Amino acid sequence: MKALPIRVRLTLWYFAMFASAAALLCMASLWMLQRSVDETEYHELQERAQDVQLVLSHESSDRSIGQIRDEFAALYDLKDDGKYLQVLDEKGNWLYRSKRMAAGNPDLPAPGRLPKDGLITEFKLGARTIRILAYPISARGMRYSVQTGISLNKSTMLLANFRAKLLLLTPIVILLAALGGHAMSRKALKPVAALAAEARRINDRNLDIRLPVPEAKDEISDLSHTLNQMLERIDKAFASVRSFTGNASHELRTPISLMRTEIEVALYRPREAEEYRSILGRLHEETVRMTSLVESLLSLARTDGGAETMALAPIRIEEIFRQVAGTWKETMCRAMLDFSVEMPHGEPMVLCDLQGISRLLSILLENASKYTPPGGSVTLKAAMAESRAWISVQDSGIGIDAEYLGPIFDRFFRVPTSGAPPSGSGLGLSLAKWIAERHGAQLRVESSPGRGSCFSFSLERADAALQTMHDSRRAAEAEKNCGVVGQK
Ligand code: ADP
Repeated sequence: MKALPIRVRLTLWYFAMFASAAALLCMASLWMLQRSVDETEYHELQERAQDVQLVLSHESSDRSIGQIRDEFAALYDLKDDGKYLQVLDEKGNWLYRSKRMAAGNPDLPAPGRLPKDGLITEFKLGARTIRILAYPISARGMRYSVQTGISLNKSTMLLANFRAKLLLLTPIVILLAALGGHAMSRKALKPVAALAAEARRINDRNLDIRLPVPEAKDEISDLSHTLNQMLERIDKAFASVRSFTGNASHELRTPISLMRTEIEVALYRPREAEEYRSILGRLHEETVRMTSLVESLLSLARTDGGAETMALAPIRIEEIFRQVAGTWKETMCRAMLDFSVEMPHGEPMVLCDLQGISRLLSILLENASKYTPPGGSVTLKAAMAESRAWISVQDSGIGIDAEYLGPIFDRFFRVPTSGAPPSGSGLGLSLAKWIAERHGAQLRVESSPGRGSCFSFSLERADAALQTMHDSRRAAEAEKNCGVVGQK
């Protein structure tokens, strides 16, 4: 059943439900008709018995049984030809027996043995079925059993007729209902088919197409809306992958063509060993830059694919700073920058991934060294707040225009400069932002052109995290104990 299309399934369900309802209705109407026929017949038979009671009650008490017999014969032999009637008094004397009743000779109990509402039985007379009612009556201080009958042929025919017509009509109605159900399910699923046809048109080259949203606020409009939102997300992801690949190939092409020109010029004519050395030195610089670019690209690809993970562990801030400052001290010195490290008192610990945070700080320190003219200063600082430690890299460099403070975190974005920009690819800050986010923090920047910039982020303090863990464990234990005491 599950393999069938929804339209067929709906039609089958509709058919099954309608067929059961129709069958139930037919059975109920047949039963009701049968009942009302039975009731009508019973009342007619009862009326006839009461009619006999009326006749008997008008008889005077001095009449002999023979006289009453004659009177009954005179009256009922003519009336309805005395079809099915017999009357018995409580002493067992017959007052009247019609010919047909005598022929059938059904059993007639004494009035004392009959229930108040009489007793219904049937007997066969030739091809006919006769329904008879034995009914107790009282008249002139005596009790009598009256038995009247009715031929069932008419009502049997009526019921048979009705049943035949029902049997003929019901399948037609069910068939019509099934056809109606099929048409209805087709109509109901038409918008879904239209949606599927439209969705089939969409491929990687026309992801900007959106599905039509019907005006009615129903399930179909909800579905198209949801699908459109999904298309929007896919479109954005595709666009970002496209621009990432475009930018990456552009960034890689520039140094490669530079190296190629350099090599071609070098090979153009024979040169002195010194000249070759200087060309190789430049080529080496270029390959170092390319290596760093490829590393950044790989890292970003890994972050996108979810392969780059951060394992947070408690680490002393001093250890992080010692490792990073050791690497950058010489570079800062060569760039003629005054590099200082400010540490808080004590031995504070933070929850972080040492490699990730070192990478983040290296990106910030490299930028500070690149964008701060000689003679300037760069400070790596940590300040403690209640549950977090704030870490910042401040420089007295060129600063960033307010309009670029947002876009600098985008991939491949570099603030436009009038002269030749320092080497770089515009990938550092987007990677730094991702690492900060993995530590549950935001990478912030404050900067004013000509005065310098300050990049900062916060890390959770290990002691605070431990305390929180301890507190929640104690609270859980207290709750458990309360429950135990309460149960006692
Ligand atoms: P890049 O490789 O160009 O340094 P980043 O993503 O690290 O790429 O930085 C993006 C841009 O932000 C840089 O091109 C630069 O214009 C600007 N920027 C980053 N750090 C600083 C800073 N400390 N001072 C001034 N400008 C900065």
